[in-house]
Amino acid sequence: MATERAIGIDIGGTGIKGAVVDLGTGELVTERIKVKTPAGGRPADILQATGELLSQVADLGHTALPLGVCFPAIVKHGRTLSAANVSDEWIGLEAERMFEQELRSEIHFINDADAAGYAEARFGAAKDEDGLVILTTLGTGIGSALIFDGVVVPNSELGHLEVDGHDAESRAAYSAMERDQLSWQQWAERLQRYYSHVEFLFSPDLFVVGGGVSKHHEEFLPLLDLKTPIVPAVHRNNAGILGAAALAARF
Ligand code: BGC
Repeated sequence: MATERAIGIDIGGTGIKGAVVDLGTGELVTERIKVKTPAGGRPADILQATGELLSQVADLGHTALPLGVCFPAIVKHGRTLSAANVSDEWIGLEAERMFEQELRSEIHFINDADAAGYAEARFGAAKDEDGLVILTTLGTGIGSALIFDGVVVPNSELGHLEVDGHDAESRAAYSAMERDQLSWQQWAERLQRYYSHVEFLFSPDLFVVGGGVSKHHEEFLPLLDLKTPIVPAVHRNNAGILGAAALAARF
């Protein structure tokens, strides 16, 4: 490994979080810095907020480290190709180049769930797991990462599978539980439909469930009846930061 530390930034629908990561251990070596995602989620505003966060990281004495940024959209060759919970202005945007022009050279820009999946495969719940691991993040939307023998197959977007005539994340994301004021049991019924469908399509060897709500995994994972083992993510809300940092140092 060329570098031992890198900066990871995770852009989400409500907050933008960043920290310096130790790539040997997968631990954060600085506090986690968080700024609010600007209302409307427009590129120029998010870029500015990310710049502010980055200068706070730099103030902690970390400047010249590799930088990875993860974002809730399909990201192909640095371009964002979708915008499920952010402004439509991201669709077709040369996001990586825009961030590089404004913030600094050499940024690695990727999908947030892929970053989390990579982090769990390297440092967490999917470490040393052979076969197909599917990580899903349950948050504002549902993010997914397909990891086969430790390699992430990018941009799987399984949150947008159609289940019972609905975009799956609109019914089964954690935000849907909050919006519809569901009990754990009621939410688990929706998760059951979702995970059974994904299980039928992919026959994975392991499901890993991330997102902030995974800290309450005991409330809902035992309610699910699946053939595939399903476990909580180890790094939860830090997985995006870890994965973005680790991938930035690799490329
Ligand atoms: C987006 C994905 C993202 C997921 C989690 C979905 O709505 O389409 O790209 O990974 O939310 O943030």
